[in-house]
Amino acid sequence: MTQSIYSNYPPDLSPDQQKFLVTAVKDWAIQNGLAVRPSPAVVSSEANPNGVLATNAPVTLFPSPFPRACFDEAIALQEIYNKLYASITCNEEWLGVIVKGLIEVDDFVANLWKVHQAVQKEGYVQNLSLGLFRSDYMAHVSPTGAPALKQVEFNTISSSFGGLSARVRQMHTELLTSPPGSSINYPPHPLLQSEVPPENNAVETLSSGLAQAHKAYGVSKSTPALPLCVLFVVQDTERNVFDQHALSKQLSTVHNIAVFRISSVDILDQTSIPSSNSLRPLLYRPPHSPNSTFEVTTVYLRAYYSPDEYKSSRDWEARTHLERSAAIKCPTVLNQLSGCKKVQQVLAEPTGEDHLSSFLKDVEPTLVERVRSTFAPQYDLSVNSKGRELALNPETALNHVLKPQREGGGNNIYKSEIPGFLKSLPETDWKGWVLMELINPAPDAQNVALRSDGEVLRGDVISELGVYGTILWDDTGKILHNQEGGYLLRTKGKDVNEGGVAAGFSSLDSVLLF
Ligand code: ADP
Ligand code: MG
Repeated sequence: MTQSIYSNYPPDLSPDQQKFLVTAVKDWAIQNGLAVRPSPAVVSSEANPNGVLATNAPVTLFPSPFPRACFDEAIALQEIYNKLYASITCNEEWLGVIVKGLIEVDDFVANLWKVHQAVQKEGYVQNLSLGLFRSDYMAHVSPTGAPALKQVEFNTISSSFGGLSARVRQMHTELLTSPPGSSINYPPHPLLQSEVPPENNAVETLSSGLAQAHKAYGVSKSTPALPLCVLFVVQDTERNVFDQHALSKQLSTVHNIAVFRISSVDILDQTSIPSSNSLRPLLYRPPHSPNSTFEVTTVYLRAYYSPDEYKSSRDWEARTHLERSAAIKCPTVLNQLSGCKKVQQVLAEPTGEDHLSSFLKDVEPTLVERVRSTFAPQYDLSVNSKGRELALNPETALNHVLKPQREGGGNNIYKSEIPGFLKSLPETDWKGWVLMELINPAPDAQNVALRSDGEVLRGDVISELGVYGTILWDDTGKILHNQEGGYLLRTKGKDVNEGGVAAGFSSLDSVLLF
């Protein structure tokens, strides 16, 4: 079955057919906002001094086949995954034990924990938290059975590409359904005639999560009352802006909510918390409209997930400032920490205390087991542990990836490099890393990608599915809103270990279910 799906897909393209498709895709991308700002490696700053240029996001020309059973299972489990990470975040004591095991070897985790402790000492004034999550998977092919859904990682901060993934789905659908003779369509192929990629409501779901938080914030805490807004905190050098605009546009046009973008470096200059107001509202004064002040209901972080974003103590001060405010944070520091790879490894431990069942006490046990079966084997590297043995043995290392407590791509160590890398570190640092067995998706999948610099790549590929979910909860664990919604498929060359789109490894894709 698997063999026959991939064996002659996608169709071969003559040079003219490829040129036609590439033209159709690159024009569609710009016309419809499936775009990114070019990196300086693609367009130098001398050629683009005012930063006005945009280019297509890296995309596949064809949607990739993906097993329907795995896709449906990922969708079915998303709300339980949302709940799992909300419950972990509520259990500060449990999370604290994990974090304390990392603090001495990981400054970034240590500093995040300090922010939490500082705010805890003063007292939190907002008991609601918002999660816009993405759970990432691959369809693992075992030599014997059907493909199985296996989780790569769970993202609790800055889960990106919801905006653009819906656009790719739309583009592939137009290519599939436009009549022959249109400026956009595919050469004939049986798989391309059968169906279109499933609907992708990521923009609606993610923006509706933000809108729910905005509403739950209630009325202004200022006297006199101020107009309310949602604030997107973004990186100074962000290139993936159109993905973010897809969400902010939906928030302002459909939900009628004022939305502003602020660079993380401007937080301390452009926002304030009046010391006279013990409710600690976060006030925002837009520089383009200095006479109007807004009160921020919800802070959506598309920044602050990586240590290199905290260049000085002022950046940590800014993060603390947001955390201590009354705005609902997406995510809170604790929720960000719940996304540590170490948490995923502890949840996946096959023996010892059953943390997964404890966090999902009120979920039907069969569903809990379905969540558990998405875990790939993961190990710590403690003395005499199986993880240490597997990582140091050059043969077994080949089937593993070594991960630190980081997000955003480019941080992992793969396969043959693991033993040497570990030996180059003091053994005391090893507890900052987890070892994970490699997931092996279909070996014979192929696709063609159009990169942002116009390069066209054809070859063997690996696809990673991400499913989005949003959840709003309070610190007692009460859930006010929980929704699955939308997906991302990222496809990369088979020889590439890393996976991020923004990091330059993958292309955006959509799925043809089989
Ligand atoms: P990050 O937080 O940097 O995104 P990930 O855990 O997602 O870290 O790893 C980055 C990439 O490495 C993934 O997108 C995927 O392509 C690859 N990868 C990670 N874990 C595995 C695994 N267990 N099996 C196969 N590939 C993996
Ligand atoms: Mg990832």
